[in-house]
Amino acid sequence: MKKSKLALYGGTPVRKKPFKPHPVLDKNERREVLSVLETGLFSGFIANAGPAFLGGPKVRKFEDMAKEHFGVPYAVAVNSATAGLHAALSALGIGPGDEVIVTPYTMSASAAAVLMQNAVPVFADIDPVTFCLDPRSVEKKITARTRAILVVHLFGQAAPMDEIMAIARRRKLVVVEDCAQAPDAEYKGRKVGTIGDIGVFSLNQHKTITTGEGGWAMTRDARLALRMQLVRNHGEVVVDHVKSDFDPGPVLGWNYRMTELEGAVAVAQFAKLWKLTAHRVDLVRRFLKAVAGLEGLMAPVTRAGSTHVYFLVPFRYDAAKTGVPRDLFVKALVAEGVPFGAGYVRPIYLDRAYRERKIYERSSMPFDKAPKYRRGDCPVAERMHFEELVTTNICRAPLSPADIDDVARAVRKVHAAVGELAARAAEVVPT
Ligand SMILES: *Cc1c(COP(=O)(O)O)cnc(C)c1O
Repeated sequence: MKKSKLALYGGTPVRKKPFKPHPVLDKNERREVLSVLETGLFSGFIANAGPAFLGGPKVRKFEDMAKEHFGVPYAVAVNSATAGLHAALSALGIGPGDEVIVTPYTMSASAAAVLMQNAVPVFADIDPVTFCLDPRSVEKKITARTRAILVVHLFGQAAPMDEIMAIARRRKLVVVEDCAQAPDAEYKGRKVGTIGDIGVFSLNQHKTITTGEGGWAMTRDARLALRMQLVRNHGEVVVDHVKSDFDPGPVLGWNYRMTELEGAVAVAQFAKLWKLTAHRVDLVRRFLKAVAGLEGLMAPVTRAGSTHVYFLVPFRYDAAKTGVPRDLFVKALVAEGVPFGAGYVRPIYLDRAYRERKIYERSSMPFDKAPKYRRGDCPVAERMHFEELVTTNICRAPLSPADIDDVARAVRKVHAAVGELAARAAEVVPT
């Protein structure tokens, strides 16, 4: 047999040099963190109604920056987006017996936060263009017990918020926006996270800006903000003593407090959000131009009126057009030294807790009131995940246009060899 050029079959990979790791740090993170080390105040929080109820100076400075940039009156820094989603649902009073409609195609925490309140996640299907919730499916999943819609702006593009908000108003539901993958993305001129009742963002290691672990929630509602602050900081002991113009009601608190070290990094990172986003978008544009027109590989579509901030670049792959199974195509790409994945994360309802409807040893709460979760529940999400989606997270700082050109070259090389891949598809290749 003729010697193959494909790295998968022993050829030379397009890219041997490793890509520079994310994130981008400079003297500003260093200066901010050192100023915390000089004081030794690692956390400014105390669980009482005094001035330390709202945390230390770095955490508050970060919250002020977020409020100003997004034009919202309240921002609540927390130690993860998972904590933020849970605090949001808790602040909104979601609890046992309630149903929350959520997308199955998201990071697991978007649905786990519902279970943390002993409420029931009900999965609606996604739209095959934005990969976010399909409003028609949402409408079909509403029952007398539905209280909320938890919408995720997946991969960096806004979900169809006009339709979602219209449903919510009509059916008297609250809306939480999971913006972990879409900080600064816009929907019809409005930033995501400012449209629903509460918006939640992540600062984990993999997100556009990061503090290692961390996140924040935003709202325009003073009572929701106070309730989230109580949830963040052992609110059950504080609630009788806080001064406010309204009754926040009883609340159960956790410890979702952000440290001053994280707050310090957040201050430096937040100032770079728009620059890092613009860099991502530039790299993606270059990449999409370089791989345009390849049969069977469809570039992501940004809906009119929206912006895309590309946490991931999602392609739709058509095996009928290339003659090569998707997973083999992705394997051939990875062998070329460029990071690609087949699909994103498996639809959540296929995870064990949902399949077995069980999270406690001696109780079936809250699944005793839940639907059975089965393969086939959300056919579009399953088709995208198991058959069509090809994703990469390569378009981000600190990578350069030359790096992205390597990635595009790898895609074109593998695509030019689909004939060979199709002919050898039955071969077992080592991974
Ligand atoms: C990353 C992510 C989360 C969770 O963020 P953490 O800060 O790690 O808890 C939630 N939802 C989505 C969509 C995410 O991508």
